[in-house]
Amino acid sequence: PYDVLVVGGGPAGASAAIYAARKGIRTGLVADRFGGQVLDTVGIENFISVKYTEGPQLAASLEEHVKEYGIDVMKGHLAKGLEKKELVEVELENGAILKSKTVIISTGARWRNVGVPGEAEFRNKGVTYCPHCDGPLFTGKDVAVIGGGNSGIEAAIDLAGIVRHVTVLEFMPELKADAVLQKRLYSLPNVTVLKNVQTKEITGTDKVDGITYVDRDTGAEEHIELQGVFVQIGLVPNTDWLGDTVERNRMGEIVVNSHGATNVPGVFAAGDCINSPYKQIIISMGSGATAALGAFDYLIRN
Ligand code: FAD
Repeated sequence: PYDVLVVGGGPAGASAAIYAARKGIRTGLVADRFGGQVLDTVGIENFISVKYTEGPQLAASLEEHVKEYGIDVMKGHLAKGLEKKELVEVELENGAILKSKTVIISTGARWRNVGVPGEAEFRNKGVTYCPHCDGPLFTGKDVAVIGGGNSGIEAAIDLAGIVRHVTVLEFMPELKADAVLQKRLYSLPNVTVLKNVQTKEITGTDKVDGITYVDRDTGAEEHIELQGVFVQIGLVPNTDWLGDTVERNRMGEIVVNSHGATNVPGVFAAGDCINSPYKQIIISMGSGATAALGAFDYLIRN
C-alpha cells in the first residue's frame, strides 16, 4: 500500500504529492488529466513570483517537478469511489482498487456554464469565469457579468473598479446576493443591473463584441455591445464520486479542518474541492502542502 495516495493532478495534487514524497514516504498520484483546470487557462499573471505564464506551460512544470521524486503517477484514470477499511481504498473506473494509509483528495472543481451560443467559442477570447484572474485584461472596457448571486455581485463590484462599465444580467426577477453587496453595487456609478433577463447569445467575430438577451417581462430581444463576459453562476466541486463517505457541505465541497483533514481518519483534502472561500492556483498549492503535512503528521501518530 501507499503511505499517501493523492487523487487529482492539478496544482493542489501536485503540491501535495511533492510535499509527501519529500518526507521519504511511499507516494502515489492518480489523476484523470494531469494539470487540471490549468490546462484550460491561457494567461496566468497572479502566480506570485512568475510575472506571466500560460496554462499548458505551468502544467508541464508541475509534472516535471513531480517527476523529480519517486512518485508513482497514474494518469488517465478516474476514481469512482472511496472506502475506509483498515486502509483507505480508492476504486477506479476500470475496477482497480488502490490502497493507502492516507488519501488526499484534490479533484478540483469546474465552472458552471450558461450553455448559450458563443460561450465555448469565445472562451478566453472575451468569455471568462474568473474576475481575480482576468479582470485587469478588461481595463477601460465594457463587460457583462452573468449571475446575480454573491459571486456575480462580488465580481461586478470588483470589476467596476477596473473596467469602464459593468452590466449585470440576472435570470430571476431579484438578485440573490446578500443585501450589503447589493447596496454597495447600487452605489456604484458605472453599473447597470438587468433583472428577469435570459442570456441568449454571446456574439463576436474573432473575439467577443456583445451579448444578446431576452427581457422575460416583455419577450423583447436586446443587444449590448461590450468586450468581455464574466460567467458567475457557480463553481461545482468534482466530489460526486465520494457519495456519503466524506462530509461535504451543501455546495458539495469537502469539509476540512486547518490541517486539511476530513471527518474520515486518514482522509485529507485540498484545493478547489474543499470548503475554502477562494479558488486560485496559489491557494490550491498551499492547501495541497497543508494536507500533505497533515497526512504525514497523522502517519507518524498512527
Ligand atoms: P483542478 O485544477 O481542478 O484539478 C483537479 C484534478 O483532479 C485534475 O487532475 C483532474 O483531472 C482530477 N480529477 C477530477 N475528478 C477526478 C476523479 N474522479 N478521479 C481522478 N482524477 C480526477 N487561478 C489562478 O490563480 N490564476 C488564473 O489566472 C486562473 N485562471 C483560470 C482560468 C480558467 C479558464 C479556469 C477554469 C480556472 C482558472 N484559475 C486560475 C483557477 C485555478 O485553475 C484553480 O483554482 C486550480 O486549478 C485548482 O487546482 P486544484 O488542483 O484544486 O483542481
